[in-house]
Amino acid sequence: MNLTLLHKQFGTQEKCISYLEKTRWNKKPLCLHCNSKNVKKRAKSIRWHCNACNKDFSVLMGTIFEGTRLPLPKFFEIMFLMNNAKMGISASEIARLVGVKYQTAWFACHKTRCAMIDNELKLEGMVEFDEAYIGSKKKKKSELIENEANLSKMTSKRGRGTNKTPIVGAVEKKGRVYVKIIEKLTGRNLLAMLRDKVDVDSSIVFTDDFRSYKQFDKAVEHITIKHSEGYGKGVKTINTIEGFWSIIKNGIKGSYRSVSKKYLPFYLAEFSYKYNNRHLQKDAFTKLLENAVKDENCLLNYKPKGNPREIVARQRKCKTAMS
Ligand SMILES: [Zn+2]
Repeated sequence: MNLTLLHKQFGTQEKCISYLEKTRWNKKPLCLHCNSKNVKKRAKSIRWHCNACNKDFSVLMGTIFEGTRLPLPKFFEIMFLMNNAKMGISASEIARLVGVKYQTAWFACHKTRCAMIDNELKLEGMVEFDEAYIGSKKKKKSELIENEANLSKMTSKRGRGTNKTPIVGAVEKKGRVYVKIIEKLTGRNLLAMLRDKVDVDSSIVFTDDFRSYKQFDKAVEHITIKHSEGYGKGVKTINTIEGFWSIIKNGIKGSYRSVSKKYLPFYLAEFSYKYNNRHLQKDAFTKLLENAVKDENCLLNYKPKGNPREIVARQRKCKTAMS
């Protein structure tokens, strides 16, 4: 997919709607209220009418597009740009490129990130675990994210034991990544993440010697790499996850400058999605559209708290202060 093809395939509202209907229902539309097949398209409208429950619905209902006033060709264009920006792209740049207001771009970007969330991921094989710390503090730009692996002393003011937001990542060597915020890096919390996201029966897990990872011993084959004895050799390293941290670090620093804790999960979803689909060059955008109309997609009901205008204004102010 390139821009020319994008405009050709999704140049009008009708084309976008019929693509989404095909993707979501595969020519067999079901009522989104009662699941009945007894539905009829309303004339000159994107809406369908259900004869069973007498209600109307459209393919946009319950998706990231619900309630948007942005024409779908523009929305698709925004999704396309985000999907192609390896290191992230700021809402202000999107606004300029697509020709929409900053506020509109900002919402569409967050909605797109919702479509990038993958809750079904289960990692297997050789899996590395590690944590990093992301702070929205307006310190030196180089300190936006700190990787604890380089700061193994617990007494350090950076890394473990600071008020920055701890994120934990699990990554298959040469594979996919899962990352989430874990407020308290206790053995129990880390173990819960391990059991939830890693197939413990078929995997070997690599971590550093942070004591909370000791709990892994009872759940999975666990190899500890002692940083005090060097950084390991061959597969006995956690280099893959460190590589992912640097992608997030550079992406956030370069495109978003700072990210508040509240919105951090969305950015983590964006970077993980792109990392996990990095080999899918041809179909990555199509996959994103499929995700966008998936029923089980989470965070669809996400709405910013407070007046959107004020939130956006605050974000801008913060950005100006930083640049
Ligand atoms: Zn119905």
